[in-house]
Amino acid sequence: MRKYTFSRTELSRAFGIDMATLRTGSAGIAFSFGKVTPGVTSEPHRHDEIEAFVVLSGAGKVRTDLAEIPVAAGDVVLFHPFEAHVLHNDGDEDLNFADVYWRDGKAALEAATRIATPRGPIFVFSTPPTPNGDLHLGHLSGPYLGADVYTRFLRMKGAEAYHLTGSDDYQSYLVTRADADGSTPAKVARHYADEIRATLTLLDCEVHSFLSTLGDSAYAEFQAACFRNLLSSSAVDMRQSAALFDAVTGDYLYETHVSGLCPDCGGWAGGNICEECGAPNLCHDLGTPKSRHSAEGPMVGSARRAELALERHYDNLDRHLRASGAPARLMDLFARVRQRGDFSVPITHPSDWGLSAEGSPGQVIWAWPEMAFGFLYNIQALARLLGHDWNAAMPSNDWQIVHFFGFDNSFYHTLLYPALYAEVFSHWTPRIRYHVNEFYLLDGQKFSTSRGHAVWGKEVLGPKTVDVVRLHLGLTRPEGERTNFTLDALR
Ligand SMILES: [Zn+2]
Repeated sequence: MRKYTFSRTELSRAFGIDMATLRTGSAGIAFSFGKVTPGVTSEPHRHDEIEAFVVLSGAGKVRTDLAEIPVAAGDVVLFHPFEAHVLHNDGDEDLNFADVYWRDGKAALEAATRIATPRGPIFVFSTPPTPNGDLHLGHLSGPYLGADVYTRFLRMKGAEAYHLTGSDDYQSYLVTRADADGSTPAKVARHYADEIRATLTLLDCEVHSFLSTLGDSAYAEFQAACFRNLLSSSAVDMRQSAALFDAVTGDYLYETHVSGLCPDCGGWAGGNICEECGAPNLCHDLGTPKSRHSAEGPMVGSARRAELALERHYDNLDRHLRASGAPARLMDLFARVRQRGDFSVPITHPSDWGLSAEGSPGQVIWAWPEMAFGFLYNIQALARLLGHDWNAAMPSNDWQIVHFFGFDNSFYHTLLYPALYAEVFSHWTPRIRYHVNEFYLLDGQKFSTSRGHAVWGKEVLGPKTVDVVRLHLGLTRPEGERTNFTLDALR
């Protein structure tokens, strides 16, 4: 006989709470004590073992994929194999519990069989391309082929899965392209959105909802409502903060208008994001910045913009990314951003191209935060086509969202969007999975629309070649590392 006493046990940090493993001498069963201090939540996890929590003192909530229940001293909660679970202490005293888990092979196998056909719809998104050019093989090999193959795979298994994408019409890159072409951003958007759709069709890429954001008044209204919600939320404020301006023209500089040394990796980066290391920047923090508008070094001034205090979400993001099974590369990006401490991200910018930001004359909602809510609107647009009642303003915990995107979009998808969702939809715990691809190179160099260093989808795709191209891209696509494409290898 052996007696264990909670109060005499040394606890150490595990699963985001305090735990101590007790030696039972049995390989078949494990036994621990755990303590959750007030306000703390354990890290979500799931495993093949059956597990039971026996609450010894205090009170809190237990959350699984399906439900949340209150627990207090004397309660026992049992978890089935693979059932995700979280213990949260919402009281004001410690929640102490005993934890027992054991493996039951037959029960685990039965549960795994049930998991094979997921419940609820699965929305697979490939990043809506910017319609400032057609799609080249660098684009196609990444998110578009990935999302298409994955959606087909899910459907073959009997899941209710859809591939959604669209054209991201309000990106600042449209303005640059229109200036170069002597056109207007709207004309450029319409032209390339059509070209992009045609290329996706040539790739045999089955898209169940393609959302063009330009000229959709209901979309603009939804975005305005989300923006109003953000402004009244706790982490978004109007702030006067440092911004970069052209020294000659006085133009506000961001995104494609400026480049410089990345404050994180020191490599050459564009405004707001570094393609090399994925880190965000604020433009004024770029080293030796260069303006697109003049040869003079830009000036740091200030601008009043709506900004999101991202640091308020670091703990939420940590939980979200762990529950999402985010790959190490994304966890590393998160760790680097978190290391900066306070980090305020502007969600509006001075521009005349985009959806106007209410209350900020001369400013638009930045196209990246816009995209976060655009995904939800696209789900609603799909619902209209299918006769379902999915509502963009009421996202459901039953939804599984899967994103396919290039590494240079990681900050927006995995850090900015979950934070924005938490600000606007307090009832929603988004279930999102992230599939990130690296750069596909052409003859050893990055594909580039602006430099014309590209093989365009339309150059190689046709009814007779599509299967070969898909197979080749599937075999060589840059899933975990940069890979190289050559036309010779395709031939
Ligand atoms: Zn960098």
